[in-house]
Amino acid sequence: MPDREDVKGPIESLLDPTDWDAFGNLARRMTDDMVGYLATIRERAPWTAMPESAKKALDEDVPQDGIPLEAVYDTFRRYILPYPTGNIHPRFWGWVMGTGTPSAMLADMLASGMNSHVAGYDQSAAHVERLVCRWLVKQMGFPTESSSVLVSGGTAANLNGLTCALVAKSGFDIRAEGVRAGPPLTVYGSAQTHSWAIKSCETLGLGSKAFRAIPVDSDYRIDVDACRMKIVEDRSNGLKPICIIGNAGTVNTGAIDDLQTLRTLATEQDLWFHIDGAFGALAAWTDSKELVRGQEQADSLAFDLHKWGYLPYDVGVAITRRPDAQLAAYAPRQDAGPAYLQSSRRGIAVNSTYFADRGLQLSRGFRALKVWMAMKEYGVRRIGRAIQRNIVQAKVLEGLVQLSPQLELLAPVELNVVCFRYNNGIGDTALLNELNAQILVELQERGIAVPSQTVLKGRYAIRVCITNHRSQNRDFEDLVRSVVTLGEEIRRRPFGS
Ligand SMILES: *Cc1c(COP(=O)(O)O)cnc(C)c1O
Repeated sequence: MPDREDVKGPIESLLDPTDWDAFGNLARRMTDDMVGYLATIRERAPWTAMPESAKKALDEDVPQDGIPLEAVYDTFRRYILPYPTGNIHPRFWGWVMGTGTPSAMLADMLASGMNSHVAGYDQSAAHVERLVCRWLVKQMGFPTESSSVLVSGGTAANLNGLTCALVAKSGFDIRAEGVRAGPPLTVYGSAQTHSWAIKSCETLGLGSKAFRAIPVDSDYRIDVDACRMKIVEDRSNGLKPICIIGNAGTVNTGAIDDLQTLRTLATEQDLWFHIDGAFGALAAWTDSKELVRGQEQADSLAFDLHKWGYLPYDVGVAITRRPDAQLAAYAPRQDAGPAYLQSSRRGIAVNSTYFADRGLQLSRGFRALKVWMAMKEYGVRRIGRAIQRNIVQAKVLEGLVQLSPQLELLAPVELNVVCFRYNNGIGDTALLNELNAQILVELQERGIAVPSQTVLKGRYAIRVCITNHRSQNRDFEDLVRSVVTLGEEIRRRPFGS
């Protein structure tokens, strides 16, 4: 039996607004609210713990029947909006998170409105993504014929590069036969390489042991000679080395491997050279581009635009200078593509899987719009200046730390990461580690600032990673003052409180 509504004649959509004018008014209110929220970001704490009452207010059973959108929005404003990660705040420097630009927020709305499906197809969104990929390839100094695709982030971009390496260098038809058909494949990177490398080795079926963690020097850069020795040793033991990973900015300290020497080593050993430049690669857009010289010689490069490109989540970039490498890794073989995804010569289905053939995703959103808008609105020079300012701010903070007798720098400042600790010459490492961990959580909980932590040579470090276009020099002065004050205060407290 048809629904009664169906018989009565033309029915309204069940999901579109019945009153578009009222919807428009609410949409304008949301926009105004978010613009006001961003404009006043400095007045709030970087992070506020989500109270139990807010969690309770949200935790309801599956809503079977709806309520008006105004009421839903009201719940958002009360219980969701006040408790963000905080990375949009000028004093957030934890992990590696980006701030997001206001105009990209609008771009995301426009892209969602169009809701383009960007597997490929003959449409504006695919055209725009091809265009921004060309821009990014050129801006990174790669050859014009390089292949490139936007992905969900650094992990996905690095996995894309490693998959290309696997297919190009395994020496057998790994796509058809699988990893079990050949000798164990191995991948080399410094012990400071981000955890994506092991995760990707596991995902690709190589196993985590395939990742050979090579020791670093005192500046946390890969020991290239040790890397060469490990490759030679593995090969003589019947393993098959396929790829060297270079780091352009490690997550711990911002260290940049000697990319040119690694390139030479990879060529000499006939290996794929992949670079993880998740945030550091963007230094190529600044006056400090010398820092990442040689990165454009990699076989593949992965980087994020949602970190040091300041765009909202999520968008990463996978580039390979080998024009066919991504297709070799991801496109269906000649006759194996399903009939329903075939491209046609005319109509919408021209190049229907252009991007799907270069990465894992089939259904893909219009990420490219915010990239295109940002590059046009700011120009890469202005984005580069913002990045350069962060590099300078890291030096400013380094200087402030060195000027404070109570603070100790724990790693060289190469890029935008500053690792330091409170150390007033009081006692042993364990005690200092405890004290600094306490300082860090109080910085966060009191709403002063959000650095994160790492451990360097057994020493607990307060880690400040600056990928923030809103930070001012005075924010770092405040941070240093607060760490010293908190250190004194916590030391004076009775033991165990
Ligand atoms: C963040 C990061 C990654 C992972 O990127 P996601 O975008 O978080 O997936 C990889 N490598 C480095 C150096 C990073 O900083």
